[in-house]
Amino acid sequence: MVETELVRIEEYAEENNVPIMTKDGIEFLTEYIKKHKVKRILEIGAAIGYSAIKMALVDEQIEITTIERDEKRYLEAVKNIKKFHLEDRINLIYKDAFDVKIEGTYDLIFIDAAKAQNIKFFEMFSKYLNPKGTIITDNMNFHGLVNKDPEDIKSRNLRALVRKLKDYATFLKENKKYDTEFLEIGDGIAISRPQ
Ligand code: SAH
Ligand code: MG
Repeated sequence: MVETELVRIEEYAEENNVPIMTKDGIEFLTEYIKKHKVKRILEIGAAIGYSAIKMALVDEQIEITTIERDEKRYLEAVKNIKKFHLEDRINLIYKDAFDVKIEGTYDLIFIDAAKAQNIKFFEMFSKYLNPKGTIITDNMNFHGLVNKDPEDIKSRNLRALVRKLKDYATFLKENKKYDTEFLEIGDGIAISRPQ
């Protein structure tokens, strides 16, 4: 039952071009949550609720706040979260993440929204991280484009986005307050922990 519903969400994502996490990416994330006994999660970029649902299913004590600014995706996420009866543990907020007032602190902050804003997201939301918590960022490779020769990327917008992602990787590497590991899993994952 749970599996069929998850496959339905994956199919919807595929058909509607919703960039949900890849299979190995989400597997890594859920394993990480299990291993590190993560309980409070803040997610930036819910899309249709897929990753939030997968994370919530790891353990009944997990509580998630997740933010989505796109109306259509938000409404789809509402439906999906209800289907799994996870309304009590997933607090879905329909807003631009920069306009959300965050309360409390989190064991895990998962950044998976507008890639060009990653530095801003990191700076804004890291304030709400538990001292022993982790910030995980998805799509560090942006569908393999980050490792490509910029001249091979035809669209100017995409080139600009790739540049921003490289700036973000540099920002993480040079950040003295955090140790960051870059993993070639899924679409590239960065794991940052306070030093
Ligand atoms: N985490 C999801 C996928 C998220 S896709 C999963 O793996 O299942 C990224 C989403 O972030 C998009 O739906 C986009 O609308 C949303 N987004 C981008 N910038 C945002 C912002 N500033 N505030 C809120 N949502 C944002
Ligand atoms: Mg992603």
